[in-house]
Amino acid sequence: MDCIFCKIIKGDVPSYKVYENEHVYAFLDISQGTRGHTLVIPKKHADSIYDLNRTHAQEVFKVIPDLANALKKAFNPIGINIISNNEQPYQTVNHFHLHLLPRYDEDGLTLSMINNRSSYEQKDYVEVLDAIKHAMK
Ligand code: 5GP
Ligand code: ZN
Repeated sequence: MDCIFCKIIKGDVPSYKVYENEHVYAFLDISQGTRGHTLVIPKKHADSIYDLNRTHAQEVFKVIPDLANALKKAFNPIGINIISNNEQPYQTVNHFHLHLLPRYDEDGLTLSMINNRSSYEQKDYVEVLDAIKHAMK
């Protein structure tokens, strides 16, 4: 399979390795969206969160607190964003990954939530909730 991250794990493509264990590989994102921007990936290929199995999900998330604390200690950011793009509109590499993005004052990164609360009434929340619960059955 022609996957750039699988090639990085195998060492066929070079990377700045931050951490590695049996199941997980972490390395600097080439874009360095902010200083310390790190990607954490399962060694076993999964296209996205939709096909990441529970064990590998566990292994990936297990290492996040230590990595986040290392980034905190190294760069003294004001905080950190942990994000993952899956399918549209933002996923560009189809090997599941978590972005660790240390945040700094005026770092120019714009990741913002929209508050749609004013257009939601109780019935709207209930409708959303019912749809999710139905899908989980
Ligand atoms: P996505 O857009 O899928 O959420 O994130 C993919 C990330 O992979 C991007 O931030 C991009 O900079 C990074 N990336 C793509 N190709 C390479 C590469 O060859 N090496 C490294 N270190 N990062 C890469
Ligand atoms: Zn892959």
